Amino acid sequence: MDNKAMLMIPGPTPVPEKVLQAMGKHPIGHRSGDFSKIIGEINEGLQWLFQTKNEVLTLCASGTGVVEAGIINFLSAGDKVLVGSNGKFGDRWAQISKAFGLDVQVIQEDWGVPLKPEDFGAALTADTDKAIKAVIVTHSETSSGVLNPVEAINEHVKAHGEAIIIVDAVTSLASYDLKVDELGLDVVASGSQKGFMLPPGMGFVSVSEKAWAAYGNATLPKFYMDLGKYRKSFAKNSTPFTPPVNLYFGLQAALEMMKAEGLENIFARHERQKQACRAAMKALGLPLLAPDDYSSPAVTSVIPGDVVNSEDIRSTMRKQFDIALAGGQDHLKGKIFRIGHLGFVCDRDILTTIASLETTLQILGYEGFAPGSGVSAASQVLR
Ligand SMILES: *Cc1c(COP(=O)(O)O)cnc(C)c1O
Repeated sequence: MDNKAMLMIPGPTPVPEKVLQAMGKHPIGHRSGDFSKIIGEINEGLQWLFQTKNEVLTLCASGTGVVEAGIINFLSAGDKVLVGSNGKFGDRWAQISKAFGLDVQVIQEDWGVPLKPEDFGAALTADTDKAIKAVIVTHSETSSGVLNPVEAINEHVKAHGEAIIIVDAVTSLASYDLKVDELGLDVVASGSQKGFMLPPGMGFVSVSEKAWAAYGNATLPKFYMDLGKYRKSFAKNSTPFTPPVNLYFGLQAALEMMKAEGLENIFARHERQKQACRAAMKALGLPLLAPDDYSSPAVTSVIPGDVVNSEDIRSTMRKQFDIALAGGQDHLKGKIFRIGHLGFVCDRDILTTIASLETTLQILGYEGFAPGSGVSAASQVLR
């Protein structure tokens, strides 16, 4: 049915009517006083959302662009970096680091296995001449649904003293209680189409004083991505280049909605919906890729195995129920499906998705569950 599509994918995520309406206006001049007021309000709102007093800089870029900015602004060619990789995004940060001529040591785990803080500890402790300049980690690894133990990894970075920590929080920001200042996280990046209830097109990055000190010595080339320019503009409620003006209107509305809900409620909602999804998949006999204790509040990865084909599940869900689920990436293509529960998702969406999934499994001839058991397990969590 036209116009009934439900996005249960980890980005782009659903956008509220209020945000769409806020965006559906004529753009205004980005150097006008009216727009400057909006920027001021947004900057303050982003600092609230990031739980930080650091500047949170807004770029016209997708998540990859802001993480790239978060890497290249603080390093010089040949600098040694540790990159944690247990999925598509960890791999990407290692690739970007190599592309810019950094000396990359990858701390690797299989997709679905959380990164081990002690591996970072060992590499950082062995680095007695303090050659490691940055540690780059993905918090919520969206490709597998693993939530990496950033807090514990960060303790090793703090003990090292010299290195900064650069965190891809693209799907954990606004879904998980990531205490940026309390933990002293140096560079934290996220993107509009994930937990922010906005369309794609904007990225955000917070930068600590320690990272700004590193910026002063960093010589990798940069121009559009030069965060120093964005810092100067931040102080003047301005932007260095023409920003996506209508996305700013949308962000203003989205931040208003998030403030009305409150951070605690936002985090609790994501946790509850994750638990509901996981309980339902277990009741349906469908294995999960990420372990319970390291599971992402944004996305649940499911391995239907040989019994039912994950791509058949996705196409039936789309054709019969207008529900989009995400597939697997790289070597997990065709092997898993992923349920996004990020941003503008309510409990009803979770129940609808699970009920539709049960019917889909029946259509595809999978009999390994008692009808209603997935919905029942989810509602036990949600009620
Ligand atoms: C979506 C995502 C990104 C950024 O991807 P873009 O397509 O560039 O927006 C980065 N990291 C994670 C963990 C993501 O989920």
